Amino acid sequence: MKVLVPVKRVVDYNVKVRVKTDGTGVDIANVKMSMNPFDEIAVEEATRLKESGAVTEVVAVSAGVTQCQETLRTAMAIGADRGILVETDAELQPLAVAKLLKAIADKEQPQLIILGKQAIDDDCNQTGQMLAALLGWPQATFASKVVVADGKATVTREVDGGLETVALTLPAIVTTDLRLNEPRYVTLPNIMKAKKKQLDVVKPADLGVDVTSRVKTIKVAEPAKRSAGIKVADAAALVEKLKTEAKVIG
Ligand code: AMP
Repeated sequence: MKVLVPVKRVVDYNVKVRVKTDGTGVDIANVKMSMNPFDEIAVEEATRLKESGAVTEVVAVSAGVTQCQETLRTAMAIGADRGILVETDAELQPLAVAKLLKAIADKEQPQLIILGKQAIDDDCNQTGQMLAALLGWPQATFASKVVVADGKATVTREVDGGLETVALTLPAIVTTDLRLNEPRYVTLPNIMKAKKKQLDVVKPADLGVDVTSRVKTIKVAEPAKRSAGIKVADAAALVEKLKTEAKVIG
């Protein structure tokens, strides 16, 4: 059985992003880019399923600029067998990505697609859900445990105030939450091996998908700066200030 894992190239989570002076977006020139952390968890999970014998092939897919090839190589160094880049310079929104992934899924016929629950750059949390709708497949979002056996996936989901376990008939969509697993460190021999793995490049037009944006960003702004705190001499001074300045106690 084949698993498809969509991986997005995003600004590294350690980078403090800066808003462009004209407010049109964030500045990503000369900024470290990495695989979206939730997608690393997705590749790790697919790799573990392969190692356990439940899965035979793991295919990583990325949509975006040429440099997404590096993200695919990282996925292959973790354990993906091959990669597909849907190459475009266009700014991709979740619906466009979901349509591209649907076209790839129609071709590749995977039994399972494991996505990240959200991309840490746009925080949309939409692509997996939209893809499930486009394919008409069942979905389990925010997964913290995935078991695949007998043509179904049993998924434990992180929901408000607890855990929910659902059974999905394959083919199905799963999106990963933080506690699903801890991705392995990528070793040098595996990075070298990944360079030799198959990486196919297609264009959105080859898949018959129009990636035109449906949403327009009007403005991007930094959060308001917090004013500096002060030190008080003792508890009595604190109580006084809470009463007279902050007015939070009577
Ligand atoms: P989002 O809906 O943008 O928060 O993204 C959710 C998930 O969809 C990500 O964790 C990825 O698994 C997948 N995804 C989003 N954008 C892309 C992309 N450009 N290429 C590949 N996968 C993507």
